[in-house]
Amino acid sequence: MDIRDISNEELVAFLTANGQKAFRAKQVWQWIWEKGVGGFSEMKNIPGELQSLLSDNYTLQKAALETTLKAKDGTTKVGFRFRDDQVAEGVFIPSRKRVTACVSAQTGCKLNCSFCATGLLSMGRDLSAGEIFDQVFEIKRMAEAEEKNLSNIVYMGMGEPLLNYDAVMKSIEYVISKPGLAMSPSRITLSTAGIVPGIRRLADDGAKFHLAISLHSANNKIRSSLMPINKKYPLEELSEAIQYFHEKTGERITFEYLMLKDVNDTLTDAEELAVYCRSFPVKINIIEFNPVKELPYEPSTTERVDQFVKFLESRNMVVNVRQSRGHEIDAACGQLANRQMTPKNA
Ligand code: SF4
Repeated sequence: MDIRDISNEELVAFLTANGQKAFRAKQVWQWIWEKGVGGFSEMKNIPGELQSLLSDNYTLQKAALETTLKAKDGTTKVGFRFRDDQVAEGVFIPSRKRVTACVSAQTGCKLNCSFCATGLLSMGRDLSAGEIFDQVFEIKRMAEAEEKNLSNIVYMGMGEPLLNYDAVMKSIEYVISKPGLAMSPSRITLSTAGIVPGIRRLADDGAKFHLAISLHSANNKIRSSLMPINKKYPLEELSEAIQYFHEKTGERITFEYLMLKDVNDTLTDAEELAVYCRSFPVKINIIEFNPVKELPYEPSTTERVDQFVKFLESRNMVVNVRQSRGHEIDAACGQLANRQMTPKNA
């Protein structure tokens, strides 16, 4: 078993049952979650006898960096290969002095959003907390190599984070606390396709990080055609869960809205979105679509985007237009892994 899959209590119990001091647990975790070592023999202040005890009973298998693709703007896709040959991708997104890490929670995704390259893959499996953390840690290392700081982490890569709730939360715990990276939770954004029970659970757990929801339409018919999960959790239920989240946490959520030509980009769509947003405070991120040859969508025209944004602003809504990064390296989620894994209908 990978040592990162056990709890602190379990490690302490294991150590004391084997005649070791309990304080060694903290040292072990520091090596793993702060220094990111790849083996027990690298734990310099741990006696050799304990290193052997650990390696006889546990594994410590970090993800291997498989492929990197770098765009002109510096955005770099990183393929991570895990112990069972599953692959997921992380993205290094630089600005002048800072870097944002976009990480995956699963290999593949079973939600099959029709605009998403990950939806073309077979569902692989949930990633463990350690495997998610590996992506954060390696992108942090890449940032430091360029003398930049890892400033933000977005759980927006492959897979649905709220369908891998425990591992995602454990990885966040090691990002925000010590032993770990001790980053502020306000630097983290978790993005969901709208898993209603997961949003309610986050509210009950007092999530301190940002929550983003991939909305893409405020019309059930259109949203269900884009995101089949909308049939299970339609917009009305999603709205109630968002209101609950806001009441419990006081946080404003963000809607991600991908502009798809002639699908969700008319003034009628903007009007429906404005009406949907009346029940809670929200920020809208309008996202340009990166065309993917296997997917039947095109980006909206600049005029349509401008018209859409102006309409929302005329309703006093907070709107950002986000340029997609790294066009020439397959920037939509799942596209790097798509090159290395078998598509569903291959
Ligand atoms: S957009 Fe997200 S939830 Fe939808 S298929 Fe892609 S990875 Fe899954």
